[in-house]
Amino acid sequence: MSAESAAARPAYRPETAVVASGRPHGSGRPLNVPVVLASNFRAAPRIDPSAVGAAPPDGVTGDGQRREYARDDGTPGWEALEAVVGELEGGHATAFSSGMAAAAAVFDLLPVGARVVAPTDSYIAVRGLLANGQRLGRWSVQLVDVADTAAAAAAAGRADLVWLESPTNPLLQVADLAAICAAAKAAGARAAVDNTFATPLLQRPLDLGADIVIHSATKFLGGHSDLLLGVTVAGDPALAAALRHGREMAGATPGALEAYLALRGIRTLAVRLDWAQRSAHDLARRLAAHPAVTRVRYPGLPDDPGHEVAARQMSGFGAVLAFDLADAATADRVCDRVRIITSATSLGGVESTIERRAKLPGQEHVAPGLLRLSVGCEHLDDLWHDLACALDAAGAG
Ligand SMILES: *Cc1c(COP(=O)(O)O)cnc(C)c1O
Repeated sequence: MSAESAAARPAYRPETAVVASGRPHGSGRPLNVPVVLASNFRAAPRIDPSAVGAAPPDGVTGDGQRREYARDDGTPGWEALEAVVGELEGGHATAFSSGMAAAAAVFDLLPVGARVVAPTDSYIAVRGLLANGQRLGRWSVQLVDVADTAAAAAAAGRADLVWLESPTNPLLQVADLAAICAAAKAAGARAAVDNTFATPLLQRPLDLGADIVIHSATKFLGGHSDLLLGVTVAGDPALAAALRHGREMAGATPGALEAYLALRGIRTLAVRLDWAQRSAHDLARRLAAHPAVTRVRYPGLPDDPGHEVAARQMSGFGAVLAFDLADAATADRVCDRVRIITSATSLGGVESTIERRAKLPGQEHVAPGLLRLSVGCEHLDDLWHDLACALDAAGAG
């Protein structure tokens, strides 16, 4: 089934694209792409074309090719999701089984011995993947503070792949994507940006010079904490084809139900994010004025070190923030006391979640009393009341 292609009509604004793109078209067709539970599709007649009727719509890929096997040729659900995310990011999208599968597909393109530059603060499992590859002799890794543009640009000049994340998880550091991607390009290095925190509604890294964008669609794109899914987006069709081939070879394919749910989640991304980031901004301000909070990390605050760059390259500051309390015990007590906010890992769902990241192995660079807060779609006043009570009860107030 061909989801409507972006080329067939004028470009929509992103708020419209999340709702309107990637849908079947033609009268009598369903509004939503059906969940097709099939690993394989009937083969084309090899000798007598009249032996089998016209290919059913689900058996034809978005490129008009006959679909035979899902891992090779995709499924209607993946294609619809890819059409929407690709349109939002301005490139060619490939859906993966998780955000980490998407990240791994980017690293799998590297020849043995490649030099990777990555942020000192980045998603925990990406750090683990990089360290693993280095231990196995697949690549070498240089970690840089991506908030230091001159240092990051200098390092990019000696790299084969520059991996960026902005804002970073969990420290909310902001990288000047245009400057660092330009340095990578000048050195012939590839630049990949993990755009999970910003989503394509707030930041479009391909426009800023990146070669590849990756998403954990598990987070904001899906938005309901009910699936694992990842996406890569590349501006260059040949690079997109290489990533897709990687998915085919590694078998890092999304499930049919996950793809359906992710697309269903994306339909409300604009309203969810708009609501949640307003609350995040307000909570960041209130936390900054709270006596127990020693520091708030949110690029929307005017005195945040990342504010100026974020204001330039993002159209909003997102719905994740972090704040520092005196120590681990105080922070743990706050997690135990919240009632509306859920004490849980992960982020980007309609429900607010809070976590002390330094409790996890591999987060030694994070202060013990730092809490990451993913702001969801509850009412701001309830969220603030919950936080303020938990801070008081934790003896932090
Ligand atoms: C969660 C996350 C990932 C990994 O995604 P999964 O879907 O959990 O595999 C990658 N990058 C960032 C920034 C994340 O928050």
